[in-house]
Amino acid sequence: MDFSTILNQKRDTIIDLWIGAVFEDQQIEATNELTFNAVRDSLPRVLASLADMMAHSDPENYQVIDEASLEHGLIRAEQGFEPAEIAREYRLLRSVIFSELEADLVQASPADVLWAIRLIDTVVDEAIARCFDSYTQSRMEELDKLRTQMQLTNQELTRLVRASHDNMSKLTHELKTPLTSIIGYADLFLRQQQQADLNDSYAHLESIERVLRSGRLLLRLINDTLQLQQGDGQIKLKVVTITPQDLIQSVIEIVEPLVRDKGLELKVDCDRAPQIVQTDPLRLQQIVTNLLSNAIRYTEKGYVSISAETLDHNRWSIVVSDSGIGIAQAEQKYIFEPYYRVHHGPTPASDQGTGLGLAIVSQLVELMQGEILVSSLVKQGSTFTVIMPVEQHELKHN
Ligand code: ADP
Repeated sequence: MDFSTILNQKRDTIIDLWIGAVFEDQQIEATNELTFNAVRDSLPRVLASLADMMAHSDPENYQVIDEASLEHGLIRAEQGFEPAEIAREYRLLRSVIFSELEADLVQASPADVLWAIRLIDTVVDEAIARCFDSYTQSRMEELDKLRTQMQLTNQELTRLVRASHDNMSKLTHELKTPLTSIIGYADLFLRQQQQADLNDSYAHLESIERVLRSGRLLLRLINDTLQLQQGDGQIKLKVVTITPQDLIQSVIEIVEPLVRDKGLELKVDCDRAPQIVQTDPLRLQQIVTNLLSNAIRYTEKGYVSISAETLDHNRWSIVVSDSGIGIAQAEQKYIFEPYYRVHHGPTPASDQGTGLGLAIVSQLVELMQGEILVSSLVKQGSTFTVIMPVEQHELKHN
């Protein structure tokens, strides 16, 4: 008897009955969210290849059923089937096939019946095995992706923890120097007071001066660290319309005495600056002040200059240059990191650097959707360029 032809003739009925049974089976929960067509999907192919195998009477040739079942397994993995649900699905297929073929089987010879039952069993078992193979493979790939993702997240977390740990140790190191100085000079001052010799008042003053200097540095360190941490969390820009030229002028008025003290030339060129920009004036002022005071601090002779100009694509720039000590190429990528200071030789007592200024500047520039660039040559000078949008949006920084 040609069971293959019978199977092919009854294919649509078998599929309908099979899908009906799969939907009805309360233990196959994955179908709750699926449409009829989604469940039907690759079933006709599985059944067609089953009929094909029976036609060729060759149970060893699994290739046709392999492909269909592999595809079926992949689809089921995607649809969120559990392995037990797939096993039930195939059990239902087996029972639907047998009940549909029952009338034909009873008319066949016992040898034909045995052959058909054995073949159907073998083929369905093979289909289940292939289906599980692809199902497992698909799940393994998902697991692999998840593992890679978790590895990346883990690396990122480790980097963050290490970075904050590094910053913490740098901060404590930075705090230690002025604190030691405060304690040492306060102690000295006390002893000098105890041995009070009024002629020594200059030495007293010097001690107080140093205590004050270190105290101020401590305060700056703490304030700058707080500001940097605040920037990592939530800073809301307060955007208003301003005239860049006026803002730059107000900063110049603050730093002018420092320029004069050092006998430097101050060049200002804001003729090509935009008339107005939308920005947060307080943050912008902080950026300009930091860059200008660095330029002055790290320049012993020559000039310090500031210019502003309109660029294309709704952008404008502020350029701060100096003819100072410069920054070696290798150091340039580090100077925006918190607490990073270039070692320019022995640190003078008057040095009030914290290594936080440029970290704050770059954080603010980023917050203002801009970018900062540096170009510098040792012993020739440095140029810091800040490029920002002319119209700033009030973005919240997270
Ligand atoms: P600091 O408080 O030490 O100046 P910053 O974050 O402002 O900290 O700068 C980091 C380092 O970059 C400084 O220690 C200094 O070595 C270098 N630097 C910054 N601006 C200049 C400049 N205009 N010229 C030379 N070196 C500079």
